[in-house]
Amino acid sequence: MIRPLKGKTPRRPAPKKPSSNQKDPVGVYCRVRPLSNEDEESCIEVISNTTIQLHAPDGIKANRNGEFKETQYSFKKVFGIKTSQRELFDDVAKPLVEDLIHGKNGLLFTYGVTGSGKTYTMTGSAGQGGLLPRSLDMIFNSIGPYQAKRFVFKTDDKNGMEIQNQVDALLERQKRDSQQSLLKTPSSKLRTDPEFSEMINPGETCKAEGVDEDSSYSVFVSYIEIYNNYIYDLLEEGPIDPIKPKWNIGGTPLRNTEFIPPQSKILREDQNHNMYVAGCTEVEVKSTEEAFEVFWKGQKRRRIANTQLNRESSRSHSVFIVKLAQAPLDADGDNVLQDKNQIAVSQLCLVDLAGSERTSRTRAEGNRLREAGNINQSLMTLRTCIEVLRENQMCGTNKMVPYRDSKITHLFKNYFDGEGKVRMVVCVNPNAEDYEETMLVMRFAEMTQEVEVARPVDRPICAFAAGRRQRNQAFKEELTRRLEERGGPVNGETPFVMNQLLQSFPPLPPCEITDPSDDHTLPRLIEVLEKRHRIRQMMTEEYSKTANMLKSMLQEFDSNLMAKENFIHEQRGKLGEKDKMIQSQKTEIDRLEKKSKMLEYKIDILQKTTNIYEEDKRSLQHELENREQKLQRELSEKKRMEARMQGMVTDTKLKWEKECERRVQAKQLEMQNKLWVKDEKLKQLKAIVTESKTERPEKPQRPSREKDRVPIKRSASPSPVPTAPPVRPPHRRSNSAGGERWVDHKPASNLELDTVMQPNIPNAIKVSAPNEKALSKCDKYVLTHQEVASDGEIQTKLIKGEVFKTRGGGQAVQFTDIETLKQECPVAPSRKRRSSGNDPPQTEAMDGDWTDVETRCSVAVEMRAGSNLGPGYQHHGNQKRRKP
Ligand code: ADP
Ligand code: MG
Repeated sequence: MIRPLKGKTPRRPAPKKPSSNQKDPVGVYCRVRPLSNEDEESCIEVISNTTIQLHAPDGIKANRNGEFKETQYSFKKVFGIKTSQRELFDDVAKPLVEDLIHGKNGLLFTYGVTGSGKTYTMTGSAGQGGLLPRSLDMIFNSIGPYQAKRFVFKTDDKNGMEIQNQVDALLERQKRDSQQSLLKTPSSKLRTDPEFSEMINPGETCKAEGVDEDSSYSVFVSYIEIYNNYIYDLLEEGPIDPIKPKWNIGGTPLRNTEFIPPQSKILREDQNHNMYVAGCTEVEVKSTEEAFEVFWKGQKRRRIANTQLNRESSRSHSVFIVKLAQAPLDADGDNVLQDKNQIAVSQLCLVDLAGSERTSRTRAEGNRLREAGNINQSLMTLRTCIEVLRENQMCGTNKMVPYRDSKITHLFKNYFDGEGKVRMVVCVNPNAEDYEETMLVMRFAEMTQEVEVARPVDRPICAFAAGRRQRNQAFKEELTRRLEERGGPVNGETPFVMNQLLQSFPPLPPCEITDPSDDHTLPRLIEVLEKRHRIRQMMTEEYSKTANMLKSMLQEFDSNLMAKENFIHEQRGKLGEKDKMIQSQKTEIDRLEKKSKMLEYKIDILQKTTNIYEEDKRSLQHELENREQKLQRELSEKKRMEARMQGMVTDTKLKWEKECERRVQAKQLEMQNKLWVKDEKLKQLKAIVTESKTERPEKPQRPSREKDRVPIKRSASPSPVPTAPPVRPPHRRSNSAGGERWVDHKPASNLELDTVMQPNIPNAIKVSAPNEKALSKCDKYVLTHQEVASDGEIQTKLIKGEVFKTRGGGQAVQFTDIETLKQECPVAPSRKRRSSGNDPPQTEAMDGDWTDVETRCSVAVEMRAGSNLGPGYQHHGNQKRRKP
């Protein structure tokens, strides 16, 4: 009967997987047994506590051409040859037992080739108890004091668990006792059977922590064997016939040589889809010894069956199932709560698998070979299932796992499919002869490690507040103490007296009178009845005594209770006061709280305002920074601009300076040229003048001939020796002016030159600054302009122009002519002339001729007669039209 998943009890109808989302890989451990003979070659080396290395034996290496390499295999833990059974148990099975006690399922199996130490690991030997006896020991050490009475928990035939009431349980217990006393023959137990006490050394026992003390527990064990894909119940009782027993229960020779082969069982699925062996015996056990005895009984059956049926035990799988039922105690903490739905069942399966070697190795023949094939088949199926599971989990596929292909996989389907811890101990014999098989075992183990099963969740069992058991116990102790105090029966006295009385209650003698002359029966009956009457009276007395005592105790309890009630009343009053106080304090607290809330609110608002201001400040600062940056940028831009302008100014200045220099030079050159031309002309004039001294008649023509070709310098300065008074200009002058009206502009800055050759313009309007009124009345304009010539003499210029009426109603002057008058010292030329001529009268005469102002002027005016040039002494312009 398999119920691998906790929480599959009827109280949870469909908790198919009460598991967490977390998954754990199958825990695979490796145990290396010592070589049986020191001469044997070893092919295994333990490298670390998680890794082993497989060395191919020399023979195989040579045969297979290096096909067999040295391979390392890793496990959750590797146990070397020196590992004790205790160490192995602590690491591998102890957590599973702890889980079992806390309501979780576990599956532990040993895997390996025959002779690798599977059975040694699982069962062990005297003093070297394996995982199974140690697990049983731990279970009972942990739940021992909290076990329910036998038959309180009862298994049904559908893999469920029920609770019987106390009376039914008691009746069943009595029935069992009577049957056992019948079966207990001296031969029922062979002395050679190992006792549990021999299996584990004292001091090696252990206990689980955190056992729920307010639950009641019960352990059921079953033991099955799977051989040739058939399931056999190893605990099934054979037909009981005390006269002709068919089973040699105690190992005594069979009285009946006819062997009845055990019937195979079938697998069923319960309402929670858990697999179980239908009709399998589940024995309730109350101690490790009892459990081990049951296990040993199954072992013996297995051995006998194997012998009788000529089977090879290494070809069968044995499954020992420990089922732990637990249910909460009732409110008093005395009995198990009569509620089927509160039962939790967990189970631990300890499986010693058949040898994993292939058929060829066993050298089996015929039937054996076929059977071996079948057994191999089931291990093959196990391997396939693991493979598919791994593939599904790793690749996310959803292939069907072929659990149903063999009984062993079908039985444990729920473990792999659902939850519950799965652990495997891979046993290896380092013997090199096993090399190839061991390698296959290792491969399977590696693959198994990659399979994950969901982790079961923790679930509290207890339905009531904890501590009922202790409270109950404490109450009993208190009652006993009080009874002692009042001199009543000390602990256990009443039951003792009663028991003694009960035991001395004489049984009724046979009262059947067959013989009329029987004188003994009646007197004996009377005697017994009288005795019984006396005892009854004594019992009644004892009873009333106890009842009275209890009554007085109760009365005392009552008065105590009254006093306590009064006290409680008093305290209540006090409490009321305190309550009031508390109330007022509460209101005060409320008020303060409100105030604090108000303040908090204000603080909040202030905080918010501060925040806003800060925000503003930040933004303003930001803006300021931006502006500053902008200003900075503009400033630098300006500076750059300035520098550029400076550069440009310097450049332009330089350019203009150069240009000016160039122009000055050009002008200078031009002037030099002019000067040279003038000098040349002067020389020529001189030559002419000198000539004219000799040719006097030609004298008047010369100036006219020269008039336009050569600029004539005439002395306007007063002659050093004036021979005649100044002459008024002739009338012809007015002719040159025509009928036109002139504006005579003489700036106030002009110097009055005391010369005779003063321009005279009749009808002219004289102004010192040009004014529009004057201009409007005239049509000609002349400006007398004085400047210092290059030789230091004052040079007077007459700048002439015509006045136009502009469209806007104003006047404009267009300059048309410039006349230049230059004043020179007349001394030098006269001296020259004087020095050049040796004849003074001649010179005088000539001077007298040419210095005659009137003559000279008339000549000059005559030269210009008919021209439209206006007033002036000498035409100095370079206008071509003036040239003849
Ligand atoms: P299996 O069950 O795998 O066929 P067994 O458990 O029957 O193998 O072991 C074969 C033999 O080896 C037994 O005699 C057993 O005592 C011995 N043996 C196995 N493992 C160990 C071990 N770890 N220490 C000492 N002896 C061992
Ligand atoms: Mg074995």
